[in-house]
Amino acid sequence: MSTPPPESPDPSSVTKPLDPGFYIVATPIGNLGDVTMRAVDVLRSVSLIACEDTRVTGKLLKYCQVSTRMQRYDDHASSAVRERLIDIARREPVALVSDAGTPLVSDPGYRLVREAREAGVCVTTIPGPCAAIAGLTLSGLPNDRFLFAGFLPVKEKARKETLEELGAVEATLIFYETGPRLLRSLEAIAELYATREVSVARELTKMHEECRSGSASELIEHYTAHPPKGEIVLMIGPPVPSDEIVDCDALLQEALTEMSVSKAAGKVAKATGLDRQTLYTRAVEIKSQ
Ligand code: SAM
Repeated sequence: MSTPPPESPDPSSVTKPLDPGFYIVATPIGNLGDVTMRAVDVLRSVSLIACEDTRVTGKLLKYCQVSTRMQRYDDHASSAVRERLIDIARREPVALVSDAGTPLVSDPGYRLVREAREAGVCVTTIPGPCAAIAGLTLSGLPNDRFLFAGFLPVKEKARKETLEELGAVEATLIFYETGPRLLRSLEAIAELYATREVSVARELTKMHEECRSGSASELIEHYTAHPPKGEIVLMIGPPVPSDEIVDCDALLQEALTEMSVSKAAGKVAKATGLDRQTLYTRAVEIKSQ
């Protein structure tokens, strides 16, 4: 007798009542179509949705045809508000969402989740969109090791110190950024890491999505001419080992006697397998010496 084929998932399972506890639900970062089926199901089935802004989450709920009650929550809420939410989650399922993407990732939720776990309340996650990961996957930068560091400090000195501290880490660095602050951050990066490849991923999943890579000074040139709008993920490629830069100097010098900076960088990149952008930046330096 042949074994019967495995049963397909029970479609009614999506409407089974949820256990009490917190459900951390990731939501789209721009394109509402990115909401997951499980997210919609959970948002529909919980008794309450704790959210950053009821107007923002209200739009998503309307799109998903969900009418669950919402309550505003952020990490500035008093501990009494958190205690009340934790008390509800002991008895009923409660969803936690932020305005966009994965809650707790540069978004509210940390205190609530920590205190809920300490109180023995069940916490589970419904994963989905996250701008940091979406940006990294688009950038083409090395992704075997990456370090997400949230927003860079606003003040110049603190921003520089943070970049210096993180710059030694052998990983791609990921930051959240805003249009008005992008140029100042790129200027700090150009000063400290002229030879590293930088990527700017903007308006991910939206109509004007773009991902632009180059040296920080090339990106400064571009964004000075085209002031950046919308939401941004800023990424810096890992440090280039200094011996690689020195080793390629002779090849670049030779190539520069016969061709333009861009062609020389391309030729040496092909010959060595090193990053073309880094070689381009180095070729510019050699030429100006
Ligand atoms: N929790 C969210 C997540 O999982 O991505 C991030 C929230 S944080 C308050 C908002 C920042 O995320 C924005 O300032 C921007 O840097 C980044 N971001 C959010 N949506 C984005 C998008 N569609 N494209 C690029 N960056 C985005």
